[in-house]
Amino acid sequence: MLTGSCHCGAVEIRVARKPRRLTSCNCSICRRQAGLWGYYDRSKVKIIARRDALDRYAWGDKCLRLCRCATCGCVTHWTPIGRASNRMGVNFRNFDPSVIESTRVRRVDGADTRKFLD
Ligand SMILES: [Zn+2]
Repeated sequence: MLTGSCHCGAVEIRVARKPRRLTSCNCSICRRQAGLWGYYDRSKVKIIARRDALDRYAWGDKCLRLCRCATCGCVTHWTPIGRASNRMGVNFRNFDPSVIESTRVRRVDGADTRKFLD
């Protein structure tokens, strides 16, 4: 089990194991927030937070909702909107740095082709 949390601790994230790789994305929001994303089936991630502890942001075609701590502002995860997908993203910047250091990070062109850039 790996546990991460936002800076103030109001939002906790639990996953059973680290992802095979992490993704650094250049889309309009990821390039501003600099998250490192691991992708999981929704059923494999536990978010522990009071309902009002999270701020949610959706934009554009509203296919996903980005979640951040309402107190400290750290972006913790995103979830799909609707039933089209079960995949969600976890921001591993909220975990111990050793997890990032020991995981391959790939750059993805989320802004355009959605293909890997490296
Ligand atoms: Zn927080």
